[in-house]
Amino acid sequence: MYYNEMAGERVSALGMGNMRLPTIGGDPNAKIDWEKAQEIIDYAYAHGINYYDTAFRYHGGESETFIGEALKKYPRDTWFLADKFPGHMMKRKGNGVLEFTAALTGIPDSTVPEVFEGQLRKCQVDYFDFYLLHNMNEGSYDLYTDEDLGVVKYLQEQKALGKIRHLGFSSHGHAEVIDQFLTKYEGVFEFVQIQLNYLDWKLQDAAKKVEVIAKHGLKVVVMEGIRGGRLAALPAEQMAKLTALRPDDSAARWALRFLQSVPEVGVTLSGMTAIEQIIDNVATYEKANPVNDEERAVLASVADSMLSWVPCTACRYCTEGCPMELEIPSIIARYNEKKNGGTVNTFGDGNTYNEALDPARCIGCGACAAICPQSIQIPDIMSEFAAM
Ligand code: SF4
Ligand code: SF4
Repeated sequence: MYYNEMAGERVSALGMGNMRLPTIGGDPNAKIDWEKAQEIIDYAYAHGINYYDTAFRYHGGESETFIGEALKKYPRDTWFLADKFPGHMMKRKGNGVLEFTAALTGIPDSTVPEVFEGQLRKCQVDYFDFYLLHNMNEGSYDLYTDEDLGVVKYLQEQKALGKIRHLGFSSHGHAEVIDQFLTKYEGVFEFVQIQLNYLDWKLQDAAKKVEVIAKHGLKVVVMEGIRGGRLAALPAEQMAKLTALRPDDSAARWALRFLQSVPEVGVTLSGMTAIEQIIDNVATYEKANPVNDEERAVLASVADSMLSWVPCTACRYCTEGCPMELEIPSIIARYNEKKNGGTVNTFGDGNTYNEALDPARCIGCGACAAICPQSIQIPDIMSEFAAM
């Protein structure tokens, strides 16, 4: 494992994301398979990964509980824990009270301190090494900058008390809103987590976001470096371009080597679901091996071929609020396959009809599109796919 400097700390270049841990039976809606997940964490720790990222909502709240338990057998000063304040799914009610919305609807109203202290308890820690505002974007900017509510001020106080060592934020917003927020709070935040990979370099203007963050003197934490697995399973024609240059390298390794060539990157998170994935990823991070100019050009051409794909990362933010209980990311994956010449004959596995995969059941309520960090107009896709 090689290491980078970020916010004055020596962080492993590869970080462990805890949003896509193995689940019982492989069903993404099921509980975490603690035995398999612990095996992954133990492998990560044994191979030098010292950065572990979680959030309030991952795995329906179970991710925080799991990672706290999984890491506590290791000395506290040998790992960094990053957690996030869920303001992007909250609405101010008055008197400092917040209501949970979107995928978090139904959790009792809370104050900012109640949320934060509850997270420390769930993770069984006295402090977070890295603490982020979750998804500061155009939609959550007003809540995060609301001075009466005082989220940032409260977190700065927790930092002064030693309960937070480094403050940052994650964002799916545009470069302009990231710049605006960093300018407003110049000197407060020490790192920014964004979605970055060779496809989004252009598709989501990630290159400009990196430039903005670097302008403020900060390092980047990468999320969706493999785009929820999308860049680990390329169409054969695109994969052939890569294997012509490096026959033994996986598609995931290419995606990660691209990130190794971006000097502003501090940590690249990978949400590793299977032990094989972490073995491959750890091997990629034995030492930095950035892509050269020729390889970068090939990756750009692979990315260009995918610009028409619906850019779903399978984050599953949308699924919990769908009144029809549709498996939205799976439907979008099938839609992409169909649009790009693949065969999708049935809405199910084999010949078994599965109503969760039937886009015709969408009632067009729009709850999913309102929460999608990729701004995908999901109801439109559902109706188009149903017609197809
Ligand atoms: S628009 Fe369709 S897919 Fe989206 S939440 Fe509503 S019913 Fe579900
Ligand atoms: S449609 Fe959007 S919210 Fe739903 S899984 Fe895909 S990226 Fe996530």
